[in-house]
Amino acid sequence: MTPTTPTPVKTRLALWLSLIRTRLTLWLIGILAVGMLAFVLTTLLAAHTILQNLNEERLRQSVSSLSEALAQEPGANFSLVRNQLDAFSTPEIYLQYQSQQGTPIASSRNMGRLTLPLSQLRPAIAADRVDAITFENRPFLLYGRGVIIRGQVQGYVIAARITGDSEEQILLFRLMYIGVFVALTLTALLVWLLVRQVLRPLERLADSASRITIASDHALRLHSEERPDEINSLAQTINGMLNSLEDAYQQVQNVNDLQRRFLADVSHELRTPLTIMLSSLELMKKEQGSDPEFQANALENIRIEAERLARLVTRLLMLARTDARAPFAREPLLIIDIIGEAYRQGCPPNRNISMECQGLEALEDAVVSGNADYLKQVLLIVLENACKYTPDDGKVTILGEMRGQHLAITIADTGIGIDQADIPRLFERFYRAKNARSQPGMGLGLSIARGIIEQHNGTISVESTLGRGSHFIISLPLLNAENVAFTDTLV
Ligand code: ADP
Repeated sequence: MTPTTPTPVKTRLALWLSLIRTRLTLWLIGILAVGMLAFVLTTLLAAHTILQNLNEERLRQSVSSLSEALAQEPGANFSLVRNQLDAFSTPEIYLQYQSQQGTPIASSRNMGRLTLPLSQLRPAIAADRVDAITFENRPFLLYGRGVIIRGQVQGYVIAARITGDSEEQILLFRLMYIGVFVALTLTALLVWLLVRQVLRPLERLADSASRITIASDHALRLHSEERPDEINSLAQTINGMLNSLEDAYQQVQNVNDLQRRFLADVSHELRTPLTIMLSSLELMKKEQGSDPEFQANALENIRIEAERLARLVTRLLMLARTDARAPFAREPLLIIDIIGEAYRQGCPPNRNISMECQGLEALEDAVVSGNADYLKQVLLIVLENACKYTPDDGKVTILGEMRGQHLAITIADTGIGIDQADIPRLFERFYRAKNARSQPGMGLGLSIARGIIEQHNGTISVESTLGRGSHFIISLPLLNAENVAFTDTLV
């Protein structure tokens, strides 16, 4: 796929954004439409009620004026009555004068031969109200009143008006509908443009996010500007999250690298003694016991390599335990005994290095709470390093002293020393200084030593001068000064 081809990620984002845009627009228009509709309906209802009241009032006025006029002229002839009906009628209002029995006497000219239904209107006349009645298949508003002359009802004046919307009303309604439609269309357009404008930074954000996904480059970041708006702060937050993810990824990568190296180193470390042991055995087989001196040498070699293997396996086990912070058996220990045991193992016999002790008398009665095997391992690790990194004819010294509530064991050598730049990382797992790499090793010893010493509530530190030698100082709390040690349970 070429970079210019739209990818599914990009298409999905574009689709997602246009979906948001459409939804937002539809929601806004929907809310506006409902609002407008409610406004129009209320207006129309109010207009309708006002017009209805106005029409009823006009009917009442026409009828009452006419009936009063007729009552004042009891003997009026047909044409006079008709003229009066015409005078009070309007193009929408029909007027009719009927006898008591409901026979039309005179009608306004605009109503032709229509006879208004007096019989249906009588209850409304009795109640003096306007009534809506349908006759001749048309809806009418009707109002009637008796013409009373000398206390006697002489007849009835009835006014009628066809109900339903007038032309002006219909025009008004049409204008309103068109107005609402035009307003909604314009609003929709405006809302669409506005939402587009608002979402544009988000589109840019999505665009750069999809570019990161396509490029699979963890170093790329989202585009953000200095402006302090929500989108920019969102982009900055996501960038911050990407930074921590990248850091975490880097850490996982480092751990993976370390593990790979660790496996390679462990296999190498295990293979070397095994190869030596196997070839010694092979030679012994070939030689078939004819040379006792050769046999003794070969067996010694096998023993040394077997011990090396055992040491390596013990360290790996300790590493696993200190990693898991597994509790270990503790007891009060005379530290001098442990130093003695480690000292006796000394430097390998094939090395010409002298080893001596100084000031250990100070530690004669010093008791610590701890595990003898673990503490011996720590001393062996540091002593082994001192021998390993000290050239022949060098010297290794074990110094002991009391420092208040702590004891200190210093293992000093006259070896290759350590660069100051390496010192802060020296106790990290697998870390090996450049000048030490000619010697075999895995960079595990010191990290194991630190793990064990910390579990004994102590510290281990180093002071060194490149080319002149190093001092490793182990400090442990004395038993009577340590409050926490005995609270640990024995396992
Ligand atoms: P290893 O000795 O197997 O490399 P360690 O964890 O015991 O691993 O030591 C880590 C590193 O510390 C060594 O690789 C070396 O660079 C440095 N180091 C430890 N002890 C000494 C010492 N006595 N003199 C010089 N460098 C030392």
